[in-house]
Amino acid sequence: MTEVSTAAPLVAPWRFFPAEVARLHRLSPSFLRVTFTGAELDTFADPGYDQRIKLVFPLPEHGFRHLPDGPDWYPRWRALPDELRNPFRTYTTRAVRREAREVDVDIVLHEAGGAFGPHGPAARWALAARPGDQIVIVGPDHAYPGDHGGREFQPALADRLLLLAGDETAVPAIAAIVERLPETARGEVLLEVPHPEDVLDLPAPPGVAVSWLPRSGAPHGSRLVPAVRAAAERLTLAGGTPPICPTGAAADDGADPDEELWEVPVGLSNGRHYVWLAGEAGVIRTLRRHLVRERGLDRESVAFMGYWRLGRADDGV
Ligand SMILES: Cc1cc2nc3c(=O)[nH]c(=O)nc-3n(C[C@H](O)[C@H](O)[C@H](O)COP(=O)(O)OP(=O)(O)OC[C@H]3O[C@@H](n4cnc5c(N)ncnc54)[C@H](O)[C@@H]3O)c2cc1C
Repeated sequence: MTEVSTAAPLVAPWRFFPAEVARLHRLSPSFLRVTFTGAELDTFADPGYDQRIKLVFPLPEHGFRHLPDGPDWYPRWRALPDELRNPFRTYTTRAVRREAREVDVDIVLHEAGGAFGPHGPAARWALAARPGDQIVIVGPDHAYPGDHGGREFQPALADRLLLLAGDETAVPAIAAIVERLPETARGEVLLEVPHPEDVLDLPAPPGVAVSWLPRSGAPHGSRLVPAVRAAAERLTLAGGTPPICPTGAAADDGADPDEELWEVPVGLSNGRHYVWLAGEAGVIRTLRRHLVRERGLDRESVAFMGYWRLGRADDGV
C-alpha cells in the first residue's frame, strides 16, 4: 500500500530572494534608501520592528554564480575559496510592500576609508548602486507559519517606559519600531547621526520624545553616550524603578572587548523600563557598563546590540 503523508510541507523560516534595485532615494548625506523588487518578494514576510535580513552582494567577476542554495548552503558557502564566496552583511527591513513586490532598506553610506580602513562590500556596492543591479536578500518567508527569528524588539514591553537609542546604523530599526508603537507609548528616542542634514522625519506618539544628535565630525558615541546617561537619569526620575544592583559582581561586564556584543532579554521580566540600544559595538559596550554596572539596571530589561565594529569588517553571516 502506498503511504500517504499528512504532514504539512516543510517551509524554512528564511530563504534566498533574488532581487534587483528598483529605485534609489538619497534621504540625506548618510542615508540611501534602496527599494528592491523581485518576482518572489510577494512572499517576503514582514514581522516589522527591527527585523534583520542579510544582503548578499555580487562578486565583481562572478556575480552570484557560485552562491550555493538549498538547506545546506551555509557549509558549502563556508567551504568556498575567498574569491568565490559572496559577501553577506546584515540590514533592517525599513518597509515591506508585499503586494507591490518591494522591500526598502536604508543603507548608511559610511565614512570608512582613510583612518577607518577601506570600504566594505556593502558600502562599496551602495555607493555604485544603479537601478537594475542584482542582489540576493536572505529574508523571512511569509509561507512559514511560526516565528521567523531575527527580530529583537519585544512589542509586549512597549507599554513600559522606553529608551530607544542608537547610531545611524540603528536609525532604520528605531524608525520602524517607533512607527509601530501604540499612541500611549512613553519614553525617549536618541539617535546619533553623522551630520545635521541626516535628521529625518520621524513621527512618534505624543509621549515619546525624539532627539537627533549630529556628531558633526566628533568621534562615534561622543553625543550618544552622554545623552543616554542623562536620559537614564531622567527616566528614573520620571517614575521608573530606582537602580538596584543586587550583586555588583554579577552585573560586572568582564567581557572581552573583541567578543561580539549581542545581549537581548530572553523572557518578559518584571520591571517598568524597556531599553533597546544598538550601534557601534565599543559604544554600546560603554553604555552597557554604565547602565548595568554603574546604575544597576536589570539586564532582563535591556537589549544591547553591537551592529558593527569600528576598524573591523563584519565578515560572517
Ligand atoms: C541586526 C543589524 C541590523 C543592521 N541594520 C542596518 C541598516 O539597516 N542600515 C545600515 O546601514 N547598517 C545596518 N547594520 C550595520 C551594517 O551591517 C554594518 O555597518 C556593516 O558592517 C556594513 O558593511 P560594509 O561592507 O559596508 O563594511 P565592513 O566590510 O563590515 O567593514 C569595513 C570597514 O568599514 C567600517 N564600517 C562598517 N560599518 C560602518 C559604519 N556604519 N560607519 C563607519 N564605518 C563602518 C568597519 O569598521 C570596517 O573598518 C546592521 C547591523 C546589524 C547587526
